Amino acid sequence: MDNYRIETTCVQGGYRPGNGEPRAVPIIQSTTFKYDTSEAMGRLFDLEDSGYFYSRLQNPTCDNVAAKIAQLEGGAAAMLTSSGQAANFFAVFNIAGCGDHVVASSSIYGGTYNLLSVTMQRMGLAVTFVDPDCSEAELDAAFRPNTKAVFGETIANPALTVLDIEKFARAAHSHGVPLIVDNTFATPVNCRPIAWGADIVTHSTTKYMDGHASALGGCIVDSGRFDWAAHAEKFPGLCTPDESYHGVVYTEKFGPGAYITKATVQLMRDLGSCQSPQSAFLLNVGLESLHVRMARHCANAQAVAEHLQGHEKIAWVRYCGLPGDPYHALAEKYLPHGSCGVVSFGVRGGRRAAEAFMGHLKVATIATHVADARTCCLHPASTTHRQMNDEELAAAGVSPDLVRLSVGLESAEDLIADLDQALAQI
Ligand SMILES: *Cc1c(COP(=O)(O)O)cnc(C)c1O
Repeated sequence: MDNYRIETTCVQGGYRPGNGEPRAVPIIQSTTFKYDTSEAMGRLFDLEDSGYFYSRLQNPTCDNVAAKIAQLEGGAAAMLTSSGQAANFFAVFNIAGCGDHVVASSSIYGGTYNLLSVTMQRMGLAVTFVDPDCSEAELDAAFRPNTKAVFGETIANPALTVLDIEKFARAAHSHGVPLIVDNTFATPVNCRPIAWGADIVTHSTTKYMDGHASALGGCIVDSGRFDWAAHAEKFPGLCTPDESYHGVVYTEKFGPGAYITKATVQLMRDLGSCQSPQSAFLLNVGLESLHVRMARHCANAQAVAEHLQGHEKIAWVRYCGLPGDPYHALAEKYLPHGSCGVVSFGVRGGRRAAEAFMGHLKVATIATHVADARTCCLHPASTTHRQMNDEELAAAGVSPDLVRLSVGLESAEDLIADLDQALAQI
């Protein structure tokens, strides 16, 4: 499917049924697989043959859906995970652990920020956060001899900053390490980070890829392009024998599949966090309409952002599709067909007014979620960031008046009318 356009890959990528086989991706709801001899199964354990034996490592339903996402991103191989958190953890931990260091954009999802700065720090990994808008010299200065990866988000959740992927890729490659990009908000429909130099792409498939708030999931895609062996001293896990598999060297045996194979046979084996075949099936149903839905999410969000920008009760609007937005130029380069459906704005009157406004909404519902077919909104100051006072909120880049609106697939006219009637009541 590699030569087809993204729309065709969304619908038909990954799974190619043979004669008389199911047209839809079958749900292989089995934890385990049968073999005629122990010898045949033993060859799988030695990584001499490929095949299924236990769904914690690999399952045909999950592999079919992972293959579709790999094609969508223009990657060589992919694996599904139980959540976006697991995807980002495995993506980093596959190449960086105790005694290592990573450079990350400071403008990333809160869960990933905690993962890197608290949990992985406890495991012995150090992290330096950089302003995504920093100069190349500032970015360069963040590297250390033990740096193993660079991390950023195409469009950051919830800050909505747009990553200069080429700038980050240049810095990573000049230090002999890969760039990992979380592409959750843009999706491969609107941006393919590998084409701009990213080496590994991650997703919370829970968001637009599923799109209907029905299944938690994540995905890691490897471009297959990073030359691990050229920097073998930095990546001994990929370039020296793995004693837990009789001394296999992943780069020698699996070539462009080395990184994903290691993540599958080592991290999934030891840490679990696999996606269920049932969830993968639901994810695939979502993927089949991803290109249609993203266009509508973006058109609706653009209409809502433009309307709010001119509203007397709105203090400010952030959406990179607006010409005045600080990230408009980067969006024109990296996201020429649209960005995502998430808009943030401030309600005049601050915290109280924002809370009151949201209470009056009828179509948009209050939910700790984004990227859903149904429009939802969140007031971080009174929910996710509730423990912070106004000063601490300002330091975190979350003003008390901020409302995060995830624009869904309803009629833009109805959404705008809903926002207007709620604003009229405050
Ligand atoms: C939601 C999200 C995650 C975490 O994904 P889960 O599926 O909730 O574990 C990671 N990155 C980004 C950008 C997200 O929006």
